[in-house]
Amino acid sequence: MIEKSYDIIVIGSGAGGGTVAKELAPLCQDGRRIAVLEWGPKFKEEEFTGREVEMAGRLFVESGGMLTADGTMTLAMGRAYGGSTVVYTGTSITIPETTLGRWNVPGLDWADLVGRSQKYMAENNVHLLPSEAINDNNRLFQEGCQKLGYSVEQFPINLKGCLGSGLCNLGCPNAAKQGTHRVQLPAAEAGGVEVITNCRVESIEERAVTARVTAAEWGQPAAWEPGDYRVTAPIIVLAAGSIHSSALLLKSRFAAGLPALGRWFTAHPALILVGQHERPISNFHGHPKSFFCDEFMESHGFLLETCMYFPFVTAKSLSGFGADHSALMTDMRRLQMILVLAMDAADRDNRITIDDAGGPVVHYRFGERLVESLVQSMRASARIFFAAGAKRVHAPAAAKFFIEDHEAERIDDLISRRDFKLGKVSIASAHLMGGLRMGAGPADSVTDAWGQVHGLPWLFVADAGLFPRCSEVNPYLTIMGLADRVAERIRDRAAELLA
Ligand SMILES: Cc1cc2nc3c(=O)[nH]c(=O)nc-3n(C[C@H](O)[C@H](O)[C@H](O)COP(=O)(O)OP(=O)(O)OC[C@H]3O[C@@H](n4cnc5c(N)ncnc54)[C@H](O)[C@@H]3O)c2cc1C
Ligand code: SF4
Repeated sequence: MIEKSYDIIVIGSGAGGGTVAKELAPLCQDGRRIAVLEWGPKFKEEEFTGREVEMAGRLFVESGGMLTADGTMTLAMGRAYGGSTVVYTGTSITIPETTLGRWNVPGLDWADLVGRSQKYMAENNVHLLPSEAINDNNRLFQEGCQKLGYSVEQFPINLKGCLGSGLCNLGCPNAAKQGTHRVQLPAAEAGGVEVITNCRVESIEERAVTARVTAAEWGQPAAWEPGDYRVTAPIIVLAAGSIHSSALLLKSRFAAGLPALGRWFTAHPALILVGQHERPISNFHGHPKSFFCDEFMESHGFLLETCMYFPFVTAKSLSGFGADHSALMTDMRRLQMILVLAMDAADRDNRITIDDAGGPVVHYRFGERLVESLVQSMRASARIFFAAGAKRVHAPAAAKFFIEDHEAERIDDLISRRDFKLGKVSIASAHLMGGLRMGAGPADSVTDAWGQVHGLPWLFVADAGLFPRCSEVNPYLTIMGLADRVAERIRDRAAELLA
């Protein structure tokens, strides 16, 4: 075991870890040593090929196909310098005041959190795309919503020099997307923080971690030689993402004092829905995500967004197979796509546990309200597709593969709870939240409102694990805002904690 020592260790380099590292970097000017330990590699620019199956294997944990324990939902998360921000789409929304009200975390103020998120909107170049950069797939969604009288808004996104190649979720091959790998991590390194890639933290001890560095299959070589390490530090920040941060802490001896650990996991369960037009539309070319519809957030608990996924993801998102499936897949140039995000309730029994090897296992149950929300979301999406001129629509909770436009009046009959079958409907999550929730005390939370783990003054959490309930909107700016608070608390207490 090779021994190392630092003042602060950050585990993970995604939205939370990258942000906290950058905000702690000023401490390096006082001679403090900070290391970010990141499981994934730092990709070379030429390694972002944009090829779907190849990039899914390189960039995502389990190629994006990690399943919940009962196999009803896939869980997508990035594993790279920059974490999931390397594969995110970059839609940038701050948390609504009503949502933070529902979070109800004593000491967490909405204006404070949103102010911090806005700092990163400026830092990561968040803006609205000009109308000429918006393709048919997005425009048709806007038109469909407007015809139906549904509220529809343009997404701010965080790009610089976007070429509209539509490959954001495979890592942007044009270096346009402004994730933490482009903004916060380079700034942290310029400020003196060391980032060790290909370095997987295996366990957390009192003010120390053990980690294994492996030879890089992709990307740049790691800063440390392959081998097993024990790294000590008076301050440790967990930012390995909701699932892996929970698993690391569950493996440790500190789990016994944290009954809320791993619990209240939420996932924003998502559906990918398609409508088919008579003529080809521009869909693959152009930024994939320009509009969202929040008409049904309060009434039915779902958000609708534009999206355009790649052939493999699209194929697995359709329920059914054979000639219909094949006909739809061979005609992707006519497809319009909508992404549903359902606002799942925080349930104590939706939780992360660990298996015998210490790996994470995610237990997730779809309650009746959530299923009803998903059925309603398919009906609303079908209406939008038809209002936008689609000739037929595929809804996973319909008895037949296609609903034709002349059947549009019967959407409520044709898409029904009766035909929604878990396991048949392909549900995915890319917004993994909770497990280390903030709150007032250890009975029902893991950290305080500043990310400090209850009873462990040297241990902090700075990732989406902190969310006490789902964020209801796309989460990355909220994670960055929370990580900013964690960094501030550590800077304020540095003299005492590092004494
Ligand atoms: C395909 C996709 C699209 C998305 N699009 C959007 C979007 O448009 N807008 C939005 O707001 N959000 C989006 N998100 C969600 C957003 O990217 C995540 O919510 C956010 O990045 C999570 O931040 P995090 O810090 O919790 O974890 P992550 O960003 O996932 O970072 C965790 C890091 O920890 C590392 N790690 C894990 N275990 C260990 C270990 N044991 N040792 C060392 N390192 C470890 C991982 O490799 C990873 O790099 C998207 C997510 C995905 C997957
Ligand atoms: S659409 Fe823009 S941000 Fe997305 S991959 Fe292409 S260039 Fe990058």
